[in-house]
Amino acid sequence: MEAEKTTPIGRVHSIESFGLVDGPGVRFVVFVQGCQMRCKFCHNPDTWDMNSTRDYTEYTPQQMFDKAYRCKPYWGKKGGITVSGGEPLLQIDFVTEFFKIAKKKGIHTTIDTAGNPFTMEEPFYSKFVELMKYTDLVMLDIKHTDPAGHKSLTGKDNANILEMARWLSDHGKEMWIRRVLVPGITDDKEELKQLRQFIDSLKTVSRVEILPYHTLGMFKWENLKIKYPLEDVPTPTAEQVKEAEEILGIVKEDSDKQAKLDPEHEKRLLKGCN
Ligand code: SF4
Repeated sequence: MEAEKTTPIGRVHSIESFGLVDGPGVRFVVFVQGCQMRCKFCHNPDTWDMNSTRDYTEYTPQQMFDKAYRCKPYWGKKGGITVSGGEPLLQIDFVTEFFKIAKKKGIHTTIDTAGNPFTMEEPFYSKFVELMKYTDLVMLDIKHTDPAGHKSLTGKDNANILEMARWLSDHGKEMWIRRVLVPGITDDKEELKQLRQFIDSLKTVSRVEILPYHTLGMFKWENLKIKYPLEDVPTPTAEQVKEAEEILGIVKEDSDKQAKLDPEHEKRLLKGCN
């Protein structure tokens, strides 16, 4: 007899009803709890602990979808739902069920992942293949291409992350590749050239983005009483960002830039959505 399937419960750290930077168009963004990496620049260290009872709210996939769906009028043709984190792949059963419901309604789905849980081993691999059936876009952060550099920056190896990128390419899954640019740590020209070479070897990358390092999450480290490791590291200058963009072959087009709405207009739009 087949075992009865239980509904996966999502541990959700927070929600953004009107995300403009987490995928195409306007997005309902779900930030899930839990991450096994320890990036030195992380601006969400409060998402790390999967079991921290004070930091998350539980949702079934249907509850999460019902909440998101109220925002549908604002998604237009390009927008939809993004699951970010923390690390979405740590709650793969929940995300798969959530996306299954969304795809039945024809909604665009994106995960924003750093890829750390990826493995070709079971039971994860089959679950990942299933999730990809309902995922339109993967936004993959490649923190560092060099294994030692990656380990020093995040505490984890990167072989499985690069393997995941190759898997997505081989299976025709659209990807955006993102890089957080930290001066002196992830802006080395040779390493950026290596990243460019790696991206060029992939067939399904439709966009590459530089995310300039910022210190807005520093107060969270203080609240958690964890020493912030990049205290003396400055944010990158516009020239440093431009140089990195040039190495990665990023071309900025006007149509690419997503217009920011003024806060009052945004509030009016969001009335009735949450
Ligand atoms: S992968 Fe993301 S959530 Fe996890 S530590 Fe790095 S920046 Fe933070």
